[in-house]
Amino acid sequence: MASNKKLLFLPGDGIGPEVMGEVRRVIDWMDKRRAVTFDVEERLVGGAAIDAEGAPVSDATVDKAMAADAVLLGAVGGPKWDEVPFELKPERGLLRLRKDMELFANLRPALCFDALVDASSLKAEVVSGLDIMIVRELTGGVYFGEPRGIETLPDGTRRGVNTQVYTTPEIQRVARVAFDLARKRQNRVCSVEKSNVMESGLLWREEVTKLHAAEYPEVEFSHMLADNCAMQLVRAPKQFDVIVTDNLFGDMLSDAAAMATGSLGMLPSASLGAADASGRIPALYEPVHGSAPDIAGQGKANPLATLLSFAMMLRYSFDLAEDADLIEKGVEAVLAAGHRTGDIAGPGSTLVSTSQMGDALLAALESRAA
Ligand code: NAD
Repeated sequence: MASNKKLLFLPGDGIGPEVMGEVRRVIDWMDKRRAVTFDVEERLVGGAAIDAEGAPVSDATVDKAMAADAVLLGAVGGPKWDEVPFELKPERGLLRLRKDMELFANLRPALCFDALVDASSLKAEVVSGLDIMIVRELTGGVYFGEPRGIETLPDGTRRGVNTQVYTTPEIQRVARVAFDLARKRQNRVCSVEKSNVMESGLLWREEVTKLHAAEYPEVEFSHMLADNCAMQLVRAPKQFDVIVTDNLFGDMLSDAAAMATGSLGMLPSASLGAADASGRIPALYEPVHGSAPDIAGQGKANPLATLLSFAMMLRYSFDLAEDADLIEKGVEAVLAAGHRTGDIAGPGSTLVSTSQMGDALLAALESRAA
């Protein structure tokens, strides 16, 4: 039997608790049927934490997150907290977790399930079988660089400044994540920047090239300018395996790639930090979608993005590839059988609730594990 893994659950707000509830059911199933047991602790984040603890994430919760083997987060935010001061906004809880856990690598897969090819705005043949991974640098670049700010000039007009800045270690550590991932996938990495017009892009290109030659010569490696990459992602996305890029370009390219797959309710993500002395890698898994206040509490939320985030956790934090595969194949089977929550519903499909989607997945898991 595998040893117990320490999980921290942060359901958050809106549909967060509903979609996380379905992961609980899969965990219970794994405990019984796969002999994989987790110790799950649950705490508050976002608006729920503001209401109960006076801050969007408490120090105690941050401590627990740092000590856990992995964290699964639902979603934060909602209209109830729109008027709270900036520093107390629900999203600040998520940002603090990312910062304190030093989660520098954001993994955003874009995977197109066969049953959902028609939900994509791209042609079926362009997205059918799509399976790419975008690795976005998450803690550096123009979103954090100094100097920054807005100043008033002597003539009364204003000037806004942000600074794109990267160092060798920042580039190398995120590139390492991409190369390591590629080794477990199709063994291809494309590094994306704007080295034609930005010095930080040129440094990015040179450092990733050096790292590739020194440590990953067997991985197929290429470069692409970010504007071309945006075009290629909607023209022929299947040419990519792993894309590694900076914070700003990654923000945009991962959203563009994601839409090739259809719906927000299907998109998982992982954010990873650096290994500590014991080899443990801080990790936060979460669906890409928000708290969906318009459908919260109505049993309409699609839990699959969160369940697929949990599958990523099994694969990347616990090396349980077989169990991750089981869940991903289960999701594929559920979709192929026509089960759909409202966000992915189409002609001929069966409209199901959040918990009915969970029921269907558990049935698919049971039949595959039997
Ligand atoms: P959203 O992702 O919550 O919702 C956008 C649309 O997609 C809504 O119509 C919603 O009903 C639908 N949707 C989203 N997830 C779904 C799911 N799993 N199943 C079915 N439908 C789904 O984005 P928004 O409306 O812009 O933001 C709502 C709140 O969420 C805001 O407070 C925002 O700040 C917050 N937010 C949080 C996160 C996060 O926690 N990581 C991310 C984005 C937005």
